[in-house]
Amino acid sequence: MTMKKPKVLVLGGNFAGLGAAQKIRDHAGDAVEITVIDRKAYLDYIPNIPLEIFEGRDPAVTMNMPLVETLARDDIRFAQAEVLGLDLDARQVRVRPNERPGAAEYRLDYDYLVIALGARLAFDKIEGFAEHGHSITDAFQANRLIDYLKNDYKGGPIVVGSARFHQGTKGRPAWLKTALAACEGPPVEVSLALAHWLEKNGKGGAKNITIFTPAELIAEDAGEKVVGQLLQAAGSMGFSYVNKTEDIRRLTADGIEFANGQNLPAELKIVLPNWEAHDFLKGLPISDEAGFVITGMDMRNPDHPEVLACGDAAALTVPKLGAIGHQEAEIVGRQIAKSVGRMARQQADAPWMPEVICIGDMGGGKAFYIHATSWFGGDIQELRMGHLPYAQKLAYKEAFFRNHGRIPNWGLPLAEWSAEKLPF
Ligand SMILES: Cc1cc2nc3c(=O)[nH]c(=O)nc-3n(C[C@H](O)[C@H](O)[C@H](O)COP(=O)(O)OP(=O)(O)OC[C@H]3O[C@@H](n4cnc5c(N)ncnc54)[C@H](O)[C@@H]3O)c2cc1C
Repeated sequence: MTMKKPKVLVLGGNFAGLGAAQKIRDHAGDAVEITVIDRKAYLDYIPNIPLEIFEGRDPAVTMNMPLVETLARDDIRFAQAEVLGLDLDARQVRVRPNERPGAAEYRLDYDYLVIALGARLAFDKIEGFAEHGHSITDAFQANRLIDYLKNDYKGGPIVVGSARFHQGTKGRPAWLKTALAACEGPPVEVSLALAHWLEKNGKGGAKNITIFTPAELIAEDAGEKVVGQLLQAAGSMGFSYVNKTEDIRRLTADGIEFANGQNLPAELKIVLPNWEAHDFLKGLPISDEAGFVITGMDMRNPDHPEVLACGDAAALTVPKLGAIGHQEAEIVGRQIAKSVGRMARQQADAPWMPEVICIGDMGGGKAFYIHATSWFGGDIQELRMGHLPYAQKLAYKEAFFRNHGRIPNWGLPLAEWSAEKLPF
């Protein structure tokens, strides 16, 4: 008689979902059946989208990694479908296959569920965005931005910044702070790289750009020391900086209006929206009031320990950074291995602290590298700027694609070591 293996459903196949599926296979071996469900059959390598457009490449061509054969290498099945909802009591997920229109709705059983569906980038909640806004969060937005810069930009003022993030509080650990912006590496990166692009193309430079933040301090998860250094460098380059805008009220043809009553004139408005939870996660007993999935440090929901979450969909992931999702995917793999008897409790439950790791393009073959734990109560606050972090940003992406999403264990430590220890 053959025993049926526990079924693991991983919802989402981008950084957190792919990482979790691979880590589950690594740690639980052949003790489980794994299926990844995503509405698209490729991984979108989002962090390098700004770099690609400013260097003249189309991210739709260069930043997509095929998912189906990547997963098949580890005997992980892929189902292309829209996730519609969860039935936690029945341990089922409602899906609609989306390869062809007109599909019926199905219910898929699970023994373990991993929610790695990211977040909904709520551009549609910003008044005037479609008519007057730009962004860089995906290939469509990025290509639209570079087309505008090349063909229509008249040299006027540019604003770059974030709408307000609304973080839940239910089940939140005391050490996790409130962030007013979901992910502020991108506005800093885009401002620096754009300034270089404007100069190179004879259309202006840093003096054209005002960086804004809803918070007291931009990118505060990087730590006060790091942000202080970044702001000093940006100020000396000619950028303007506005803080405590609270939120974006609306975009108009002539500028941007903030919730604090302040207005800035702007020809070009480059905006990062609120990272919202998906509608079908809102109101579930596993979610906080914003709709993000509540977990402990073991990435399991306390009331439904068979439900785990990682990446941007998890309430614990603040800031919303792929690097943190990557760390959480490892925990998910260990926890499921523990549940199926393939890893000792002591090893699976080993304590960990999230780490902010962010490498942002600055244009001209330079980048900034941030490694910080201060947001989470640690004492690391490292900032490096120069050619080496840029080389690392490219090398990391190359290694990611070449190794089918599997960055070897030495990948991050090597990047950390070389960025932090080598003088340049
Ligand atoms: C411009 C930019 C630059 C960034 N740079 C960095 C950086 O340098 N370093 C860093 O660490 N982070 C960076 N980030 C953040 C990083 O991109 C995210 O934290 C990361 O993508 C989150 O991964 P995830 O897998 O949790 O979610 P996502 O990447 O959002 O993936 C979610 C997946 O779920 C699928 N999905 C969603 N809903 C459904 C549904 N209902 N049905 C089926 N499938 C669904 C989606 O298709 C997608 O594949 C950047 C973000 C932006 C926008």
